Amino acid sequence: MTVVRVALDVPVNQLFDYLAPDANATDIGRCISVPFGNRQTSAVILSICETSTLPDEKLKNAGHINRSVPPLPQSILELFNFCSHYYHYPIGQVIMNSLPVLLRKFKQPAHPTSGQYIHRVLTSVGKSLSLSDIPVRAKAKRQLLSLLLEHGMLTAEICKTMSPHARRLLHEFEELGWVERVIAPLEKTVFSTTPAPVPTAEQTHAISEILNNAERFTPWLLNGITGSGKTEVYLRVAAALLAQGEQILILVPEINLTPQLEGVFRQRFPGTNLVSLHSGLNNSERLQGWLRAQQGEAGIVLGTRLAIFTPMPKLGLIIVDEEQDHSFKQQDGLRYSARDLAIYRARQANIPIILGSATPSLESYHQARIGRYRLLQLRSRAISQATLPAIRCIDLRITPVQEGLTGSVLDALRYCLARKQQSLVFINRRGYSPVLLCKSCRWIATCKRCSSRLVVHLRERQLRCHYCGDQQPVSPACPQCGDPDVLPFGHGTQRVEAALTHHFPDARILRVDRDSIRHKDAWQKMLDRIHRGEADILVGTQILAKGHDFPNLALVCVLNADASLYSTDFRAEEHLFSQLMQVAGRAGRAHIPGTVLIQTELPQHPLYLALMRQDYALYAQIQLKERKAAGFPPFVYLAVLRAEAPALVDAVEFLQQAATVAVTAQEYSRVQLFDPVSAQMVRLKGLERAQLLIQSRSRKHLQTFLGDWLRHITAPPARKKIRWHLDIDPLIL
Ligand code: ADP
Ligand code: ZN
Ligand code: ZN
Repeated sequence: MTVVRVALDVPVNQLFDYLAPDANATDIGRCISVPFGNRQTSAVILSICETSTLPDEKLKNAGHINRSVPPLPQSILELFNFCSHYYHYPIGQVIMNSLPVLLRKFKQPAHPTSGQYIHRVLTSVGKSLSLSDIPVRAKAKRQLLSLLLEHGMLTAEICKTMSPHARRLLHEFEELGWVERVIAPLEKTVFSTTPAPVPTAEQTHAISEILNNAERFTPWLLNGITGSGKTEVYLRVAAALLAQGEQILILVPEINLTPQLEGVFRQRFPGTNLVSLHSGLNNSERLQGWLRAQQGEAGIVLGTRLAIFTPMPKLGLIIVDEEQDHSFKQQDGLRYSARDLAIYRARQANIPIILGSATPSLESYHQARIGRYRLLQLRSRAISQATLPAIRCIDLRITPVQEGLTGSVLDALRYCLARKQQSLVFINRRGYSPVLLCKSCRWIATCKRCSSRLVVHLRERQLRCHYCGDQQPVSPACPQCGDPDVLPFGHGTQRVEAALTHHFPDARILRVDRDSIRHKDAWQKMLDRIHRGEADILVGTQILAKGHDFPNLALVCVLNADASLYSTDFRAEEHLFSQLMQVAGRAGRAHIPGTVLIQTELPQHPLYLALMRQDYALYAQIQLKERKAAGFPPFVYLAVLRAEAPALVDAVEFLQQAATVAVTAQEYSRVQLFDPVSAQMVRLKGLERAQLLIQSRSRKHLQTFLGDWLRHITAPPARKKIRWHLDIDPLIL
């Protein structure tokens, strides 16, 4: 009896057994179609056994095994298992979250697009066959098998010239698991055509350190100020490893915002097959890329967080660029951190990993300080003429402001305009958007479905909820007291743009925020305009801060950073520092010195003092000290149990019950449970939310506790419509 044990896309953490007489050991990691409930669904084979724990009469027959693509390798199956354990998420859902849709849906891989061919190669089962396995009268079959046995494969060119009958037989061989498809490599030179700059001394040191330890797991934290040339370090290390035939995985925060890195790699390695995996791909493109990576044909895989699950048989290096970026953590479903999984994968594959950042996450920096990661620093800018920008605070307590702008900022902008240099006005969106306020009764427009304040969009004359997307027209009068004088309060990008237009009617002002780049190509068009020098003043949010090189940018003005310093989120400051370092780094990239002006009411705040010195290490030390005293990560490990329901009381009650189950288990004295509280944003999309924080100084104890605890939490009654989940290492509390 042959039983396959499979993972299914269902919300319970267990595997399911089916009868599959034709399955063999090479099918582990393949998709199989199985009956489940009253439907046929796709599953992944995780093991093959001779017996089942189910009684024979309960075992159902599995269907077709998809042998047209190679199985998932053992290393990826291990990664899925780790994910399932660590994030306490059902294994089947972990797998289905991570596979390309078409792989799950049993589609054949899309037919080769231009420039690509598919070879047919004998599998290990195929290789073990001999001609005597085929009846003498099946002449064509014997012919085909002998051809395959002789060459081990049929090239795409040969397949193309075969008769339709022979092709049908080949397909049959695939179904039997004798033959599999391999995408033929494109031309394979890894040598560069773009001249590379001579590395600086600091770069040279970093490159040789990494390459000298390329044979084993070594986590590197590459901490380099903006403009220090971290990319060149990635490129040089990548070049050396590509030349040895190894594959490289590069994770980037949001590909649409960091198109430059992809461009740089394509340019430097024009002959290397680079696969880019991001949310903009259609299903068939995603599958193609995935298969090229899995077959070892893609030398470089560059992608957003989901790319961490890509099988790469010759993986030799992982790079996580901007490792502090929160977008590496998925915020729904399987709440994984791609950066943390990248460390797991590097250890598993016994290869180096580079975490790069100007402002590493405090978690990673702490690891480097205690010696678990190795620190590499780039302290000066790579281009010799480029100096660090001068950063200055403008004290809002003694300087008058009009429409959010001080005289000093206006003067500096005027000066830049006169010299035909670009400037950037940066608006910190976090916790600071224009709201609609009644001056008489202090009424503020809020969302009916969430507890959030609505944001004024002047041009469209609309109020929008940035959490649930609800929209309504700007009311002509206060709904509470009838005063017609309701005004936008605060300074959103549109309002600042309006004020700047008023002050500088001749300047070309370009507003860049999520609204203005919602359309796919809009952002690229804007970037082109900026690079062609067709904009004098850029007004924008964090989108502008990320990794872009604007050579003519001389001035950065930060209008409203203070709000983050009052936030209740303990990570808000770290985030602000990182963002301001990034945005300050936009100024003076090439040959013009840069200036950064920061409007603040707290010019003596340690954050600004460290920022003015561009001293990440100083700031990180201050923050780490505070975190240690307060008992926050990285000194403790967190998990949060969240619940949402139409009524807050139900959500809280559910958490309370969950807490009671846990409290009775006293052996978990090293784990601390807090009281359930309502979430910062209580109402979201019509539901009310509460959360329960769990912490421990030991990750191991926390994990053991969570595993046991989850088994004891009883499902709430369906009528209360409670939904709940556990978030491990949460970024947002
Ligand atoms: P980072 O990512 O660290 O902010 P980049 O990698 O974008 O910095 O490099 C900043 C600029 O310096 C780029 O224009 C890059 O081409 C240039 N650069 C990097 N290394 C060198 C070098 N060794 N010599 C000259 N220019 C360099
Ligand atoms: Zn809303
Ligand atoms: Zn009013």
